Amino acid sequence: MLGLMQSHPLLVSSLIEHASRSHPDTEVVSRTREGSVHRCTFADIGWRSKRVADALTCLGVEPGQRVGTLAWNNYRHLELFFGVSGMGAVIHTVNPRLFPSQLEYIINHAEDQYLFFDLCFLPLLEQIAPQLTTVKAFIAMADRDSMPPSAIANVLCYEDFVAPSSCEYRWPQLDENAASSLCYTSGTTGNPKGVLYTHRSTVLHAMLICTTDGIALSTLDSVLLASPMFHVNAWGIPYAAALIGARLLLPGPALDGASIYQAMRDEKATIAAGVPTVWLMLHQYVQTKGLRPRDDLALERVLVGGAAVPRAVVETFERDFGARVVHAWGMTETSPIATVCNPLKKHQDATQSQRIDLQRQQGRVPYGVELKITDDQGTVLPHDGTSAGHLWVRGHWIASAYFGAEAGSSLDRDGWFDTGDIATIDPDGYMHITDRAKDVIKSGGEWISSIDLENAAVGHACVAEAAAIGLPHPLWQERPLLVVVRKAGRDVTREELLAYLADKVAKWWLPNDIVFVTELPHTATGKLQKRALRETFADYRFEA
Ligand code: AMP
Repeated sequence: MLGLMQSHPLLVSSLIEHASRSHPDTEVVSRTREGSVHRCTFADIGWRSKRVADALTCLGVEPGQRVGTLAWNNYRHLELFFGVSGMGAVIHTVNPRLFPSQLEYIINHAEDQYLFFDLCFLPLLEQIAPQLTTVKAFIAMADRDSMPPSAIANVLCYEDFVAPSSCEYRWPQLDENAASSLCYTSGTTGNPKGVLYTHRSTVLHAMLICTTDGIALSTLDSVLLASPMFHVNAWGIPYAAALIGARLLLPGPALDGASIYQAMRDEKATIAAGVPTVWLMLHQYVQTKGLRPRDDLALERVLVGGAAVPRAVVETFERDFGARVVHAWGMTETSPIATVCNPLKKHQDATQSQRIDLQRQQGRVPYGVELKITDDQGTVLPHDGTSAGHLWVRGHWIASAYFGAEAGSSLDRDGWFDTGDIATIDPDGYMHITDRAKDVIKSGGEWISSIDLENAAVGHACVAEAAAIGLPHPLWQERPLLVVVRKAGRDVTREELLAYLADKVAKWWLPNDIVFVTELPHTATGKLQKRALRETFADYRFEA
């Protein structure tokens, strides 16, 4: 017998509808690239996102089609988050830090129909536009007065685009399992892969991260989003803020210490979200300037994810800011938040040092996510806090397949997704990442593909073999060290090789150092032994 309760699909549009109705005056504050501040409310975002939806419908965008964005954190991007998904299309947030050839690949693979962009990306777009085979027009996220001349023929102005549209638009009642957004993730091998979120997964993720033992987001909060909106749906925070009515602070492209500090202070941020590198830059700034964040700021909590949080970051926030670090783990495939580290009742009497030790773990699952760890043979390992194994995850907001593949094709027989991370889980359910199975290099929360870097280096006439490994860096978490074997009888210097690589990979992928060796360690099957190489260079130190 079926129950007799109402059933409404869980839709992204329902979040902005709720925010417009129940929190109409709650502010969305954006810092522009020029440093000025733009203020609007959830009511404004509500009617403007309807105009976006209406304008896209008038252009002939069909449900399920992809609409790309190349943009920083600002109110127009937020309108697109709700407007594009709300009308049934799929918002594809593209990471502008990727190398142009990767951008071309991703946008063509996603078959983006239209591409919205911040003006600062116009030169980049002019470079790649001729190679984009599916994009019908490029929409500059600007008003008419700011429109620059462009070499691209089909550039529209965002404000002109939405002006004639109707805010009487009615959101369609979509299937909650319809696709709502798309983010690409780059792994160690092959091309980047798309993760296709659903309305249902997005709303459930937003609900669960708001809970007290999640990130405890509330209508009393002002949340500073220092994680880019192109990184895994901005960690789901725009949706969660609309759901709960939290004030949203969007810092634009400026994530340096001075800008973040100013935004926190001027807008009285109570919670901020970002990768450890952003916090390291903030701490350096505070230290250099001799500031007193405890007196200046209203910061209560800091959500840290994307990479393991260093102990010093937790300590500095506690001591100098009076703010508690909330450590979370996840990945593009997990929407992203899959674990959050909060104390249990039994930790109430813990010493400060014990509490900080706890906070450095990646945390426990909320309702809706399950974890398991296995050995190489797939045998489930105990949750004893010491057995380290492959980390698998399943749940309502975990990917089942990559874009273009058959549903379920990324899962094992029992529906588990292999994260590629290595972890322990203790008897209380606290998960701790000890290593990663893959060899990508994590720099400032972004991935550098070691293989792409090696392949670029091997393209040099004097290079026989190259291996890129990530080594700890005081600011960026990790930076690449390139270990190179020269071809017999050939000579190339560190500087020559760096100059050679300069136009082959993105600038921030360039190795911090290059070391020449006579041979590299290999496995029996001829694969590079990265682990051995990391051990060899364990004592190597980059400068800050
Ligand atoms: P991405 O898909 O780019 O968000 O990267 C996901 C990967 O980042 C995960 O598989 C982990 O290897 C790493 N990661 C994310 N959060 C954390 C964390 N809190 N601690 C350690 N590693 C993390």
